[in-house]
Amino acid sequence: TSFAHFTFDEQLMHQIRKSEYTQPTPIQCQGVPIALSGRDMIGIAKTGSGKTAAFIWPMLVHIMDQKELEAGEGPIAIIVCPTRELCQQIHAECKRFGKAYSLRSVAVYGGGSMWEQAKALQEGAEIVVCTPGRLIDHVKKKATSLQRVSYMVFDEADRMFDMGFGELALSISCKPCPMKTMLLSLLFSATFRKKIERLARDILVDPIRVVQ
Ligand code: AMP
Repeated sequence: TSFAHFTFDEQLMHQIRKSEYTQPTPIQCQGVPIALSGRDMIGIAKTGSGKTAAFIWPMLVHIMDQKELEAGEGPIAIIVCPTRELCQQIHAECKRFGKAYSLRSVAVYGGGSMWEQAKALQEGAEIVVCTPGRLIDHVKKKATSLQRVSYMVFDEADRMFDMGFGELALSISCKPCPMKTMLLSLLFSATFRKKIERLARDILVDPIRVVQ
């Protein structure tokens, strides 16, 4: 598979070329077409596999489709992950590739300034990268709303469990739309344990499983 198989438009291809990636990684080859087709997915993949781009590229395509359909406030896509470091890394990738369409990303995580994050959320962003507890705090304080969310990623789900965020992740997944069919959800984990299987069953609808 080459990047041409994904049929991304010229703006996104331009950003990918700037990254000097020569070909998609295995998780990208398998995962990108699934997410583009609108199916839920479980990706069993480790850091270093290229999984971040595998969920960011289809997310950008999704947002551009959705933006025209649904004006309004609050993010269209949220990426939930266990740590501040991961949040910052993913946020940097979102900004890098989101440049293709001038999309805005905000990172909200525990330990960062609540006030500054709330301000950034209120200025508006199509993408929010977050740790689960902090996102819920902002929603409770009405700094943002998940009403418009239609693309959701749970990254490093196994670490999220190890840190006690399993229940929070589940509660976030229930918030956005009552009509689950409107929602595309992807879950990534380095391991596939019983707990992940159960979370996947609660969050995902008829997912395709991809093992890297
Ligand atoms: P990740 O597994 O998402 O943490 O990505 C690991 C590293 O691989 C990151 O530094 C990415 O910039 C890089 N990467 C992602 N996709 C590709 C690709 N197709 N070719 C080469 N490097 C890539």
